Amino acid sequence: MKNPIVKIFGSKNEREIKGLFPLLEKVNLLEPEISSLSDDSLKGKTVEFKKRLESGETLEDILPEAFAVVRETAKRTINMRHFDVQILGGIVLYEGKIAEMKTGEGKTLAATLPLYLIALEEKGCHLVTVNDYLAKRDAHWMGPIYEFLGLKVASLYHDMPFEERKAAYDADITYGTNNEFGFDYLRDNMADSLEAMVQRGHHYAIVDEVDSVLIDEARTPLIISGPTDSDSSLFYELNPKVKNLAVRQKSIVNRYLKDAEELLRQENREEAGKKLLQAQKGGPKNKRLLELKENPENIRLIQKTEFYYNQTKSISEVEEELYFVIEEKGHSVTLTEKGRTGLAPSNPEKLILHDYTDRLAEIEKLDLPKEQILAKKEEIESEYLQASEKLHIIDQLLKAYSLYERDVEYVVQDGKVIIVDEFTGRLMPGRRFGEGLHQAIEAKEGVTVERDTQTLATITIQNYFRLYDKLAGMTGTAATEAEEFSKIYNLEVIVVPTNEPVIRIDHPDRIYRTAKEKWRAIADEIEALNSKGQPVLVGTISVEKSELLSKVLKKRRIPHGVLNAKYHEKEAQIIAKAGEQKAVTIATNMAGRGTDIKLGQGVTELGGLHILGTERHEARRIDNQLRGRSGRQGDPGSSRFYMSLEDDLMRLFGSDKISNVMLKMGMEENQNIDSPLVTKAISSAQKKVENRNFEIRKHLLEYDNVMNDQRNYIYTKRAEFLENLNISEKIDEIIEDVIDAQLEEWELPKSGITTQDIEPAVLWLSDLFKKEIGIDVNGDEEISLDEFRERMLRPAFEAHRDKTTELGEDMAPRVEQFLALQAIDKRWKEHLYEMDGLREGIGYQAYAQKDPLIEYKFQAFNLFQELIININADIIKNLFRVHLAPSVQRPSIWRIKNTQHEEYGQYGHFGGRQQYEPAEQYAGGGAPPSHQNRERVQVVVGQKVGRNDPCPCGSGKKYKYCCGR
Ligand code: ADP
Ligand code: MG
Repeated sequence: MKNPIVKIFGSKNEREIKGLFPLLEKVNLLEPEISSLSDDSLKGKTVEFKKRLESGETLEDILPEAFAVVRETAKRTINMRHFDVQILGGIVLYEGKIAEMKTGEGKTLAATLPLYLIALEEKGCHLVTVNDYLAKRDAHWMGPIYEFLGLKVASLYHDMPFEERKAAYDADITYGTNNEFGFDYLRDNMADSLEAMVQRGHHYAIVDEVDSVLIDEARTPLIISGPTDSDSSLFYELNPKVKNLAVRQKSIVNRYLKDAEELLRQENREEAGKKLLQAQKGGPKNKRLLELKENPENIRLIQKTEFYYNQTKSISEVEEELYFVIEEKGHSVTLTEKGRTGLAPSNPEKLILHDYTDRLAEIEKLDLPKEQILAKKEEIESEYLQASEKLHIIDQLLKAYSLYERDVEYVVQDGKVIIVDEFTGRLMPGRRFGEGLHQAIEAKEGVTVERDTQTLATITIQNYFRLYDKLAGMTGTAATEAEEFSKIYNLEVIVVPTNEPVIRIDHPDRIYRTAKEKWRAIADEIEALNSKGQPVLVGTISVEKSELLSKVLKKRRIPHGVLNAKYHEKEAQIIAKAGEQKAVTIATNMAGRGTDIKLGQGVTELGGLHILGTERHEARRIDNQLRGRSGRQGDPGSSRFYMSLEDDLMRLFGSDKISNVMLKMGMEENQNIDSPLVTKAISSAQKKVENRNFEIRKHLLEYDNVMNDQRNYIYTKRAEFLENLNISEKIDEIIEDVIDAQLEEWELPKSGITTQDIEPAVLWLSDLFKKEIGIDVNGDEEISLDEFRERMLRPAFEAHRDKTTELGEDMAPRVEQFLALQAIDKRWKEHLYEMDGLREGIGYQAYAQKDPLIEYKFQAFNLFQELIININADIIKNLFRVHLAPSVQRPSIWRIKNTQHEEYGQYGHFGGRQQYEPAEQYAGGGAPPSHQNRERVQVVVGQKVGRNDPCPCGSGKKYKYCCGR
């Protein structure tokens, strides 16, 4: 056996890999023996292994032999023999770790080893792919191995019919995307019966391209949503006012820019800098401003000026003429003093969220009867709710006017606002921006403001994959993210050596001043390579850029293919040919992933496949993915990235270091530099973005963890009722809980309870159980609280038994199940609605200089307690009001309208991500931004108004249709 260890791997990793050698040796030593088996004896191994497991052997005991069996089967069925490095990879995967194996190393085949082994336990194994096409391809490709050995294999696809889907989960090994697995889990927990569920647990999963799934896609949660009944009048009401403001601000910004240009001509840089900064704050997307910023000196000037004003704490001087201030990076808009006056000239104060805690405390101090204090408190609360809802809508409208451009971020078609996916350029009908932004854009465009949707079920990728007993992953690029894998998923990364050494040459970046110069150089380079015959794979960060380049190449008459992750199967065919002579292939980073690029005839002599990156991505890892497309299995190859100062990475995150260096070098048009200093600055900009994105994912997870505990609790309860065992005892427990909750509310002393206290209890019990209920107690007797509780429980349980007799012993459990599920679903859905609102509203916590996460946890806990009390009360109330067994099937309240999991885009602020934006802002800055326009405020808790109660504002409408919206 040749020793594949190469020195470049860190010593810890080296030790880990060496530690696997004895196992590898065992697998290799078994080969002659296993190879001599007849087909039938080889097939018989599965039954033998299962028997051995039953009689006490462990998976580890049989691992070497099982791996040897899979290797032999692969030879006989699909004509491939697992390389030694694939056996090593298989062991890493078996151990529940991430195997970093470069592109083309054969991860698909490596995964068959642990999948076969663990499937022997008959609990199912999942292999997670990045798209449906790969799920199908890999299940088919590897299928003959499993089938030969008597195992069933299946793959999931979008819109798969229920029966087929259920059968796919019943197979030993199931291939599918994370979206299919995740949404199936959520849908299962809305099912009306056990039979309507498709998954049978979460035993073992291998995630292919694990970084794409667990890192890139984990930035947004999976969400199933459906309609709610909210009304949209506020958007209509506020839109004209905000529009007016936006128009006025635009002319102010234009004036600033005109002045700035004049001042620049006069060489008055100090004043020009101020005007430019003002324009930037008031309209960062202004076309004229962007033109001026094509000159790096101007960018530098703005930065210097901003630094100056921040230092001298006189930034308010810069902002005072503006109605609102936009922060492009943080994607936030803040109304200024002037803006508030502009919106509500008579009463600008109304748009400030006052310190409600103080006001509430003041009321407490007043010498007023309890009812009046309560009434006053409710008044303040509703004022607060109204003000914060209004402010929120104003913010969204301001964003709609100043950050979202028609035909760029969205289009308007048939009276609907449709999102344009920034990454792929595709229209996303049915998908909506979160947090009221979509309604704001609808109001701006004068189309019908659609009803809002609410979350019906949601889970983060992180929490979904934590459900598995054992999780493993594989990819070509994991090592740079090892820390995150370990912290969030408890997954260790092991770098598995390549089968052949990598000889690809990675050239240093080429950097240009402007995008225009860069693209010209790229086209020249492609033309040169093409005339030489060397194939080139060009990577872009978006579909628009791909198409832009495609146009240029067409003009130059260079034949080429374009891929944008739209038609996975077709694109796989195109990319498979990207290694042939003269091939020019343009692709976004996700397009054609998982497809192997083999070199065509004579290409080795030309230097192999060349990778040309047209822009650096958000993470170094994604750049490496692109590079990794070349140089597989010891092939020759090369790579180079092109950049310009106008690239998003530079514009949004590059420090001024880069433009400084460029200026110092006195760069002229069409010149480029390969400076190590600049390259270093670029990777530090990337690290900034990587960190920011990690923070976003961590925060998303912290928020979801609150939801996760609640979801687990409800899903478990739900599943218990679906199983329908010992339901009568469960109902008795609930009766106990309901009585305890009521006792708590009465605030009775621990002892000395008299007939006086007992009277209301008798009434309450009689009302609850819809019959006369007596509590045994003598006229002058004084009893303890415990005793009192016992005396309430006795008749209550009796009432339950009477009810069971009335309904019939057979029917009673079915009725109880029905009512329990109905109560859980109805209340849980309401709770999810409130949680949506809480998450949206929590953004304003940042104004209060508080950690919004702590507030969120606190309030979510209160809501959840309320939820449990309501569920219990509903079950009992309804049970004693029902007289006949319900003959119809329980109608599901889960009307699914949309399932969404935002796609991963570069430098984007899109869709579902909006929903967690407040947290993201908070995380990004380390502390909430302290801004003079942001008033201290605290959300009022306690004394909650019920959603169905009359609204405390006195409108006469129900609270949920009024201020509680
Ligand atoms: P990865 O997912 O690691 O990028 P793939 O699983 O797509 O790689 O495999 C890459 C290519 O290598 C495929 O064309 C496959 O047929 C080939 N391959 C993988 N393992 C072997 C092997 N043991 N023997 C021969 N060819 C192999
Ligand atoms: Mg692969």
